[in-house]
Amino acid sequence: MKIRIAGIVEESYVDGEGIRFAIFMQGCLRNCKGCHNPETHALDGGKILDTEEIIAKIKKNPLLTGITLTGGEPLLQIAPALELAKNARNLGLDVWLYTGYKFEEIPNDAAELLNFVDVVVDGEYIEELRDLDLKFRGSKNQQIIYLRRCSNDSD
Ligand code: SF4
Repeated sequence: MKIRIAGIVEESYVDGEGIRFAIFMQGCLRNCKGCHNPETHALDGGKILDTEEIIAKIKKNPLLTGITLTGGEPLLQIAPALELAKNARNLGLDVWLYTGYKFEEIPNDAAELLNFVDVVVDGEYIEELRDLDLKFRGSKNQQIIYLRRCSNDSD
């Protein structure tokens, strides 16, 4: 399945807990002031890959804790995001999803995807609420929501 991405970080330590394969999905309409990834905004930017290529790269790294779907706005490409999340789950990896939507405003179309997501980091980036001490998020309004236990939890 085709997916438009801005880039991939094959081993990230900042896009969620553990060692993560981070997929920066292309396209975002929010234009948050101070956004750190403005190159991800154009809906026709980035490059198109096949999800199978990405899954093959994920399979090559036995050290991964999970994958992170980020962007950009992953929920603008729900079908390929679901494909990646399902495959990650089958590989025993956990899935973090970053979205500009507040959790309660996530569209119904994403319900199946959420079944394969372990952690959601929600909400737009609000520059006035920026806090460098926050882990895995940029501004205080954003929440880390654990939908289910992650594979690297110890208890
Ligand atoms: S939702 Fe994320 S990618 Fe989109 S403009 Fe805001 S900070 Fe940037």
